[in-house]
Amino acid sequence: MAVITRPLPVAPRPKPGELISSWLGRTAARYDMDDAAFRALLLGEDGRGRERLDLHLTTDEVARIADAFRLPPERVATLGLTQAWPRVAVDWLPGVGRKMRARGNLDLSWCRKCLEEGHSSGGTYLDREAALPLCLCHRHQHWRVDCCQHCSPDNPPRFVWDKGAVELACGDCRRLLRTPGRPIWADC
Ligand SMILES: [Zn+2]
Ligand SMILES: [Zn+2]
Repeated sequence: MAVITRPLPVAPRPKPGELISSWLGRTAARYDMDDAAFRALLLGEDGRGRERLDLHLTTDEVARIADAFRLPPERVATLGLTQAWPRVAVDWLPGVGRKMRARGNLDLSWCRKCLEEGHSSGGTYLDREAALPLCLCHRHQHWRVDCCQHCSPDNPPRFVWDKGAVELACGDCRRLLRTPGRPIWADC
């Protein structure tokens, strides 16, 4: 059984405006762990099935994450979507469990240029806008996508460690989502 020590020896800091699931997913990738398994070790078994982690964290979850990442609890508590955007209508956010979509804690959509930008500046991640039902990245004037371009995945996208960097990859065919077409096992 996998064990993680507290505090974590490698504990990436959350990027400005990053989704909690992205931050924890990136960290799991650094340990070459499955996202759900890492969350369960970090948050207890309840963490495995948490569907709406990005909306808010419970007091206990804040304490566990703050302890593991050596961050002030108040810093961790501000990362939830409902903390950052108190007036966000969470019932309008896309739900989970839709067939033919890349399901995540929330249904996610991302701009490939944003992923590229994150990659070239220290690591791919998903910001809060990835959890909103947006079609366009206004910064890049680029259509957002919510699914792998090569398959119809049943699993959510996942962060992986590839060539010394964290990447976001399709949960089914494992192709990179920032540069569709390159499978992450190509040079293994
Ligand atoms: Zn963008
Ligand atoms: Zn795919």
